[in-house]
Amino acid sequence: MSVDIKSWSREEIRAVYDRPLLQLIYDAAEVHREHNDPLEVQVSKLISIKTGGCSEDCGYCPQAARYHTGVEAVPLMSIDEVRKDAEEAKASGASRLCMGAAWRNVQEGKDFDNVLEMVKLVNGMDMEVCCTLGMITDDQARRLADAGLYAYNHNVDTSEEYYKEIISTRGYDDRLKTIKHVQKWNIGVCSGGIIGMGETVDDRIGMLLTLVNLSPQPDSVPINALVPVEGTPMAENYKVPIWDVVRMIATARIVLPHASVRLSAGRLEMSQEGQALAFMAGANSIFAGDKLLTTPNPEFNQDKELFEILGLKPKAAFKDGDQPETKESYKESGATEKPKWSRPAHTIDANIEASKKGKEEAV
Ligand code: SF4
Repeated sequence: MSVDIKSWSREEIRAVYDRPLLQLIYDAAEVHREHNDPLEVQVSKLISIKTGGCSEDCGYCPQAARYHTGVEAVPLMSIDEVRKDAEEAKASGASRLCMGAAWRNVQEGKDFDNVLEMVKLVNGMDMEVCCTLGMITDDQARRLADAGLYAYNHNVDTSEEYYKEIISTRGYDDRLKTIKHVQKWNIGVCSGGIIGMGETVDDRIGMLLTLVNLSPQPDSVPINALVPVEGTPMAENYKVPIWDVVRMIATARIVLPHASVRLSAGRLEMSQEGQALAFMAGANSIFAGDKLLTTPNPEFNQDKELFEILGLKPKAAFKDGDQPETKESYKESGATEKPKWSRPAHTIDANIEASKKGKEEAV
């Protein structure tokens, strides 16, 4: 089914973002009702299948090896552990399992082969499977699609202009390249960002503009509020006001009416009333479970209670797209050359300081 996609300029998105808040929520709620069932919320469970020890320097991330955050590096989970987590998630009402690995990019070999088996397994359990594994090549995207991957998460994080202030080990173009590989194999794109990293409102608008201009547009758009973690360069960042979260969600809902807008990290800090406003403003997806990779998140039971109070219901799997078929070709790699990813020449002082500080404390 083809859907009408309106194009947006930066100025138009900014004008939406700047509407008086109550007007903005009302407008977003109307758009939401036009395009989605406002009582349905997609519930995803995010698990960390490989934790910590990442070579990247994302300034917000406790899993970067260079910051000393107390996150222990843990190798790839076994397929049995993933099965157990998927069963628990499904029994608790989650329709999607997102598997995250703290990698800069996917390397061919045993670990990736095991991830493909995990994708096949979870797809076979009739859950939507999403992965977030870092940068992937065209052939790796093809193999993930063949294994039965439903969606791939690759956040653009912020605007193109601000990106180089938070990460120095890869460029914005690398992000877009991976998203292109994912789109090519008809895997749903999950891409959003984080607010509270010191960005301006224009950067928030720039991020939405990038997402709006993706073709096809992302199926899921996670809006995260930074959870500052001790040891990262952003440990002292201010807490994002709930009003900013709601404003961002409402704007995302209006400019990306068909996407699942996910109220993501930072939810533990939000009151039930604040979350209710976010649902009113068009959020229709959450991560459930007490952990989001390495940061805390509300428990399944707390969400169940909130859903009961608000009259929300979890969305069934595969309501927005067919369940992928697993094809045996996922086992065959057609990779002929090593992927090339950029390593920008610039550095970020705050990231270097955080890295140094951690080393001094460790002595
Ligand atoms: S966000 Fe991902 S790529 Fe960046 S440091 Fe963390 S695990 Fe690595």
